[in-house]
Amino acid sequence: MNDSFHQGKQQHWPQAATVEDFRRNLDAVRDRIAAACLRAGRDPRSVRLLAVSKTVPEERIRLAYAAGCRELGENKVQEAGRKWEAMQDLVDLRWSVIGHLQTNKARLVARFAAEFQALDSLRVAEALDRRLQAEGRGLDVFVQVNTSDEASKFGLAPQETPAFLAALPAFSSLRVRGLMTLALFSADIARVRACFVLLREWRDRLRQDLPAGASLDELSMGMSGDYEAAIEEGATVVRVGQAIFGARSLPDNYYWPEHAGASVTSATDKEEP
Ligand SMILES: *Cc1c(COP(=O)(O)O)cnc(C)c1O
Repeated sequence: MNDSFHQGKQQHWPQAATVEDFRRNLDAVRDRIAAACLRAGRDPRSVRLLAVSKTVPEERIRLAYAAGCRELGENKVQEAGRKWEAMQDLVDLRWSVIGHLQTNKARLVARFAAEFQALDSLRVAEALDRRLQAEGRGLDVFVQVNTSDEASKFGLAPQETPAFLAALPAFSSLRVRGLMTLALFSADIARVRACFVLLREWRDRLRQDLPAGASLDELSMGMSGDYEAAIEEGATVVRVGQAIFGARSLPDNYYWPEHAGASVTSATDKEEP
């Protein structure tokens, strides 16, 4: 990996405050995507850049849109729903929900999301399918896999994925597109990369016995600090927030709480009462 690799707060990401800032940041990220593709012998068009706009207010999202962003990723459903509602005039803007979902918020996702990347339970699949049927819509979904073996992360254990995938055809409005993961949060690139490799290897294994209608062509992995390594390991979607919008003030464990369970619920409730 190159010398410029850093993860999280170690890197300085200035706030983008003008359309010009966004153009420059988007160009820089796209250049790095292209360079990573070149190293890996891949076509740069095989990687989709999902701009992660969590915590970013509407005014600045509109600047990003003016600079060419057409796909946004949001971690929290209610925040995403509010933004979608406020920006319906931007008709070609596509919203991807990339964070853990509680079943009681499935109805909102079914209304506006083009994609849901954090599917990790049949209860959520069932709730989404029911709401989508009512809306007459379909939804692209990614199954979230926990590749870092940390209790603090959502996602299925890799060993659980075969049975999970086999159960998904029952939910006909969900279109299974691929797998998603959050890598280990570490400055040690070798350990981060191991998470990406694990996701790709499981994808290759799962592909050999895929239910009809499901596809695992997509691998969503890599964020501002590690998307180049993710691309070298096969990412087709990179989820990049801070390198486009600027550093967030909230610590990242606000989104990925230290301990699963009670603290997860309370962190979520704070944002989404
Ligand atoms: C916030 C977030 C990202 C983007 O992280 P950055 O450091 O802003 O690039 C990617 N994926 C998920 C699930 C996130 O919550």
